[in-house]
Amino acid sequence: MIADQIKAVIRDIPDFPKPGIIFKDITPILKEPKLCEDIVDAFIGQLQGTRVDVVAGVESRGFLFGLTLANKLGVPFVPVRKAGKLPYSVKQKVYELEYGSATIELHTDAFEPGQHVLIHDDLLATGGTVTAASELIHEMGGVVAGYSFVVGLNFLNGKEKITPVSDNIIVLAE
Ligand code: 5GP
Repeated sequence: MIADQIKAVIRDIPDFPKPGIIFKDITPILKEPKLCEDIVDAFIGQLQGTRVDVVAGVESRGFLFGLTLANKLGVPFVPVRKAGKLPYSVKQKVYELEYGSATIELHTDAFEPGQHVLIHDDLLATGGTVTAASELIHEMGGVVAGYSFVVGLNFLNGKEKITPVSDNIIVLAE
C-alpha cells in the first residue's frame, strides 16, 4: 500500500526546527523515482470525479508533487508563496500562527474566477496554512476543489480544523 511505502521511507528528526518538535522529513521519498510516480498516481486515482482546473502548491515542499500532479492532470500549476517572493502583482492573506503571524501570496492572474483549485502541500499538521490558502483563493473568486497531502499528522486533527469544512481532503499516509 502507498501509505506503508511512504511511512517506511520518511524519517523523524527530533528537535527540528526547534527543540521539542519532531519533524517529518519527506526528502527520502524524492530519492525513489518509482515511489514519487506512485504518489502522483495515487492522488490522480483519488481525484477521480473531482473537477480540478488548477493545482495550487504551497511553498516550498508543496511544489515538489504539486507541479507533477498538475502536469499529469493536464492543468496549470500555481505557487502559493510566502510574502515578497512572487515577482508579479499579488493578492495576500495574513494568518495567525502559534506565535505571531504569517503572510502567503498568489499572483493576481493565478486563476480565473469560478475555476476549481486543488490545494496541495506535502504535510497536513494543524491545517492553518491550507485554511489561509483556501481563504485567499475564495477571496480571489476561485472554488476550492479539495486538498491533497502526502503525509498527515493525525494527532493534530488537521482534517477537522480545515475551514471551510471539506469532504475532499486526500491524505496518502497518516
Ligand atoms: P499546518 O499549517 O498544517 O500546521 O502546517 C503545515 C505546513 O507546515 C506545511 O506547509 C508543511 O510543509 C509544514 N510542516 C509542519 N510540520 C512539518 C513536518 O513535520 N514535516 C514537514 N515536511 N513539513 C511540516
